[in-house]
Amino acid sequence: MTALDILVVAEHRAAEVEPVTHQLVALARAVSPGARVSLLALQGPGAGVAAALTRAGAHRLLVCEHEALASYNPEAYCRTVEDVARRLSPDLLVCGHTFQGMEVGPWVAARLGRPLASNCVEVCVRDGRLAAERLVYGGAWQVGLSLALPAVVTLARRGAPAKQEAHEADIERVELPDLDGLATEVVDSIAPQMGEGDITRSDVVVGVGRGIRDPANLALIEELAHVLGGVVACSRPLVDLEWMPHERQVGASGREINARVYLACGISGAAQHLAGIGGVQTVIAINKDASAPIFGMSHVGVVGDLFEVVPALIAEARKRRGSLVSTHEG
Ligand code: FAD
Repeated sequence: MTALDILVVAEHRAAEVEPVTHQLVALARAVSPGARVSLLALQGPGAGVAAALTRAGAHRLLVCEHEALASYNPEAYCRTVEDVARRLSPDLLVCGHTFQGMEVGPWVAARLGRPLASNCVEVCVRDGRLAAERLVYGGAWQVGLSLALPAVVTLARRGAPAKQEAHEADIERVELPDLDGLATEVVDSIAPQMGEGDITRSDVVVGVGRGIRDPANLALIEELAHVLGGVVACSRPLVDLEWMPHERQVGASGREINARVYLACGISGAAQHLAGIGGVQTVIAINKDASAPIFGMSHVGVVGDLFEVVPALIAEARKRRGSLVSTHEG
């Protein structure tokens, strides 16, 4: 089979490139040896999105520039990606399994009559077909699919963002479809209230679950996050109880995190929660129940009472006058 032609759709918020873009390029390059990866950047006139992507690891960078593409407008994005995919006819179109990719991927697959595999954690070419492993039931199960090429996939965020490459991709301007008279207009864009930190971008995330018992006890977890230089996240019940804002929820109906370290305190590890931590490098769990499912996904497990373990961790971090995490890594 000739080298696979893969088209990856970049993501950005305002003009800032989303880390998932780099992960998608790295994953696309691994789909098949010798694959030729093109990265498609949609941006507003003069925005720096494309410039920030030249070293993302793609062989070429395709740029579509239009006012309607300055921020994510589902109709403008879907129509543009559809048009580019129709003309370039890649063997594989790759989107993130993100709010954007979950709209663009299925749209293009439907309009071009291509098979779609969504929420994939592994994708490779086997015997001229695409073999995909996808997450279902909130991440509790994995299903294997075999798709005819050309196809469309949305990829779950996994692993650390790929490093910048020394190689600089060639930039090509791409013709646009007619984006006049769009039925959808972006009237406002409201940034989530993240407080002191964004759980999707922090290196260290301290998660707290129902084991914390009382909202007054959250101060303990905030203190731990503070001494570790991280941010506090939570399981869904704490959001349902209105103890924490939704922006802090990790999981299938919350956010996916890609932290270097995730410290889960008093969290059982339900499948819907675990669906949000697949991209974490090191998971540390503190739970008084040795049979809690969180331990099945942890690299380090502490079976104990968080009200004893967390103060001891805070004291230790203070004693070392800094972050346990960076001290450990140094
Ligand atoms: P529990 O399951 O009650 O676990 C509490 C844990 O704390 C237990 O393991 C217990 O042993 C431990 N514990 C108690 N006291 C202590 C102590 N003193 N010291 C140490 N450990 C202690 N959940 C999410 O998190 N994110 C999602 O995005 C999400 N989406 C969902 C979507 C759907 C459609 C559905 C149906 C559910 C979803 N859920 C989600 C909920 C999920 O199924 C679980 O109910 C939830 O994750 C459990 O939260 P928890 O681990 O905090 O609570």
